[in-house]
Amino acid sequence: MVLHIPVLLTQNQLEQDDDCACPDKAFVLAFDYANTEVDTDCACPDKGWGLTTAEANGRTPFTTTPHTHSQPLTAVHTLLYSPYAPGGPSVLNQAAYARWQTFGRAQSLQEEIDFQLAEQALLQPANAGFRAQYRTPETLTAWLHITNACNLDCPYCYVRKSSARMDEATGLKALAHIFDTAHRHGFRRVKLKYAGGEATLHLKLVRRLHDAALELAASHNLALREVVLSNGVHLRQDDADWLAASGIKLMVSLDGVGEVHDRQRPYRNGDPSFAHLEHTVDHILLPRGVKPDVTITLTRLNAGGAAEAVRWALARDLPVSLNFYRQNILSASRQELELEEQAIIDGMLAAYAEFEVNLPARPFLNGLLDRVQAEAHAHTCGVQHSYLVVTHEGRIAQCQMHLDQPAPATLTGDLLPLVAAGPIQNLAVDDKEGCRSCEFRYRCTGGCPLETFRATGRWDVQSPHCRIYKTLFPHALRLEGLRLLKISEQ
Ligand code: SF4
Ligand code: SF4
Repeated sequence: MVLHIPVLLTQNQLEQDDDCACPDKAFVLAFDYANTEVDTDCACPDKGWGLTTAEANGRTPFTTTPHTHSQPLTAVHTLLYSPYAPGGPSVLNQAAYARWQTFGRAQSLQEEIDFQLAEQALLQPANAGFRAQYRTPETLTAWLHITNACNLDCPYCYVRKSSARMDEATGLKALAHIFDTAHRHGFRRVKLKYAGGEATLHLKLVRRLHDAALELAASHNLALREVVLSNGVHLRQDDADWLAASGIKLMVSLDGVGEVHDRQRPYRNGDPSFAHLEHTVDHILLPRGVKPDVTITLTRLNAGGAAEAVRWALARDLPVSLNFYRQNILSASRQELELEEQAIIDGMLAAYAEFEVNLPARPFLNGLLDRVQAEAHAHTCGVQHSYLVVTHEGRIAQCQMHLDQPAPATLTGDLLPLVAAGPIQNLAVDDKEGCRSCEFRYRCTGGCPLETFRATGRWDVQSPHCRIYKTLFPHALRLEGLRLLKISEQ
């Protein structure tokens, strides 16, 4: 991956050695975080949204941006994060931080560092704030529900299991409508998630749909991304060869190491599955260069094992995503799974410590805290705007957790109005009570709307897990700051 760093000037690169000590040249480190999502069940929010402020000229006075998050990172570096930053947080050395502080009194941008600080929204025109700007959306994401069948029996699963599966005609019809919808609405890319149940039980169908998707993408002049969501226990060598050759991503679920995983992800007959998953990764996928994204679902049962699971994934240099269990109609009676705030916070902090010990150079902030994403955005996910779920019968639902509640119409015409009109209200964070003045609002965006509605009966309020997000996000940002320092020194 090409590391895109808008501003990166290190003291080492700048100074010429001589007898004298060089002055501390101001620098900012930042990363734009575009296209760095780690695949999970949910659909990322589309990028058709941004923040803008007033046009400035050479005389426009600027001031420090209100509600900017600040934390010391090392003895000589400070991490700053404007609520309006386009991407991730910024790391400033002492000279840059001192310069930023002078903007406590409004003044025009003069030095090179001033413009770099403004680029990261750490400075704003004194008389104008930031406002939302809607753009043409980029990615239409579709969950193709290949089958209800699964070889595992995870207690938090939201799929009502049966042997039912999508047939080829339904899959091909769904693809035609998905690409037509994307073209009609000006999307630039389609992302297909082959899911279930366990989609790899029917990889022959997935392969057929992939071939058709390639043709449709070419004929509609749209980019294509695909991912197979899997429990990782059924993949064979031939499947891995095909994944490697096709470039399709793979996401596997891991909920712990050994017994911790087995307790939460047993086979249908109760047998443990961890050893099979580990075998798949170590002996089938990695030798063929297939590096799956690893998604960890945290419940009260496995929170204490999150650190070990992260260590397992990082030892294999695999991207990790830490996500929170969401209660559903099938798991409502399983009280042992319910999130317990302090247990989740403790488990996540222990997992973060593993990242610090084994700090990846590649961007990983987007996988650190449930649906929290580094790029500025307004909606937690693509529901209602840029996300479709196609059931195995060819019905359209708003979210994979609503497979049992599809829209009345089947595959016909433009599909987006069907999901826009559904019961889930995926509001912008500025429309959520309790979130409007939060410094993290354009990263957290108030959490999963379904989870909020389940807990509060409202769509327009902050997440029931707000305290977890507010407690953990500064720790996650610190890890990103340390990563920026690491890559700046390489
Ligand atoms: S849920 Fe909490 S942390 Fe998230 S945006 Fe709302 S107030 Fe901020
Ligand atoms: S509504 Fe919740 S579960 Fe559904 S896609 Fe959005 S964040 Fe995920």
